[in-house]
Amino acid sequence: MGLEEQPLTEDQAERLLAVLRWPSGPICPFCGNKDHYVLDLKNANRRRYKCSACRKQFSVTKGTILEGSKLSLVVWIRFIQFLCKRSEDVSLSDIHHELNVSYGAVQNALDRLAYALKRAPLRAALGKSRNP
Ligand SMILES: [Zn+2]
Repeated sequence: MGLEEQPLTEDQAERLLAVLRWPSGPICPFCGNKDHYVLDLKNANRRRYKCSACRKQFSVTKGTILEGSKLSLVVWIRFIQFLCKRSEDVSLSDIHHELNVSYGAVQNALDRLAYALKRAPLRAALGKSRNP
């Protein structure tokens, strides 16, 4: 089943991001420990992990450009898919219409992506495949 055709639920989006970020299971972003447990929080919008070593809590977005974003993970995935799919220039307005979110939210997401693109290792990875 292709990701593009199948509408994701927020839970599926979260699981997808977790697998992409931690292929062999969650790693504490504070201390790098692998042992953790999942907190059973009824009102949490996404899975909360608690590190068994440093006892700090984290979610899949902790320490990433998605941390603190008001956009749902589903919208983030659709946003990135949309940018990857389009070969021509994409305007703020195109993204606004595609995702049905405010211009402010689109600008905020673009700012976050621009920040990530300037940083290693993404910058280095992109640099290698780029034509001069
Ligand atoms: Zn830890």
